[in-house]
Amino acid sequence: MDLFEYQARDIFAKHGVPVLGGEVAETPEQAEAAAEKLGGRVVVKAQVKVGGRGKAGGVKLAEGPADAKEKAAAILGMDIKGHTVHKVMLAQTAEIEAEYYVSFLLDRSNRTFLAMASVEGGMEIEEIAVSKPEALAKVPVDAAAYHEGLSQEKADEIVKAANFPHHVADQVAATLVTLWDVFVKEDATLVEVNPLVKTKAGKIVALDGKVSLDENASFRHEDHEALEDKASADPLEAKAKAKHLNYVKLDGEVGIIGNGAGLVMSTLDVVAYAGEKHGNVKPANFLDIGGGASAEVMANGLDIILNDPAVKSVFVNVFGGITACDAVANGIVEAFKLLGAEAGSKPLVVRLDGNNAELGRQILVDAKLPGVEQVDTMDGAADRAAELANAR
Ligand code: GDP
Ligand code: MN
Repeated sequence: MDLFEYQARDIFAKHGVPVLGGEVAETPEQAEAAAEKLGGRVVVKAQVKVGGRGKAGGVKLAEGPADAKEKAAAILGMDIKGHTVHKVMLAQTAEIEAEYYVSFLLDRSNRTFLAMASVEGGMEIEEIAVSKPEALAKVPVDAAAYHEGLSQEKADEIVKAANFPHHVADQVAATLVTLWDVFVKEDATLVEVNPLVKTKAGKIVALDGKVSLDENASFRHEDHEALEDKASADPLEAKAKAKHLNYVKLDGEVGIIGNGAGLVMSTLDVVAYAGEKHGNVKPANFLDIGGGASAEVMANGLDIILNDPAVKSVFVNVFGGITACDAVANGIVEAFKLLGAEAGSKPLVVRLDGNNAELGRQILVDAKLPGVEQVDTMDGAADRAAELANAR
């Protein structure tokens, strides 16, 4: 989960990363009041989860409350790379003397953590990373630091690798230690500061922050739920989340339900392949109902998929294991009872294989559910589901 800048700012402050005072506003009037509270010159910044706000005109300096109101009115509602601005952050301004870049991230390919730093931070950092890679230092951080904190030696190593000037070296190293705390203690997969600035008074301050949190760790952080941007979440995904389903919305027409993440992943591939022969229909979602596919879970899953207006047909692909096919078949029958008329609204192709497949298939034959057909192979069922989706 990516955070807005103002949320990253709050988290930075909590862990001692140096930031300037900030307030959030959703209307020009709120922006005016916030500027009043902050006092003096302020910077008005679009809150969208995409970079390059500065270049897009989403970051403006304001001389005082009245000006802040005007600047906020100009920025609110702006479209930045397809993201509409609903909030602005007002922050105290810094007199910038130099702009640096620092980040920590999970480096999956090298199975370690990585620190990146540059004395050429600011709005051109992406270009610099490409055109002048030697200006972006990359220093691996061993997992030991996960438990022990970032050592002074490691912080100094990063500062040295990026060639930070002597007079800011200690401050930058200290900031890296606090930023590492954010990374570890909040279970982030990325913390990035761009720019980290040196002010005219010689102070190091984080002027912009980007934080991505690991949602798999959310059970450890009760406070993280409040950071979710519920307003812009996909409504189907939000509903699935509330029912504890592993659901991801995709942009195709064939609804998918399967048991086991690996099986569902391969089902997506098989359906996409079959779709090439049937008007290029594609999978509409990922949904793994897991091992113990109870009637209730099946009903919840079907409910979400049938309510997706893009879905034209549904493919239920189950490989019976500990939860055998007869239990899954009974789950489908019960789900139809729970859902009532909604259940037969779109054609359903069911493929049951594995433990007690014969028994499961017979249960579905006997139940004569509306719109349900069975195909015994995965490829065959994918083809039929794609064909049905294309026909509607
Ligand atoms: P981004 O373009 O989305 O990364 O937004 P940033 O928050 O990084 O802001 C872009 C640029 O605006 C920064 O690189 C700074 O040059 C400038 N900026 C941001 N905050 C301030 C501030 O408080 N004072 C001044 N003078 N410039 C600022
Ligand atoms: Mn930035």
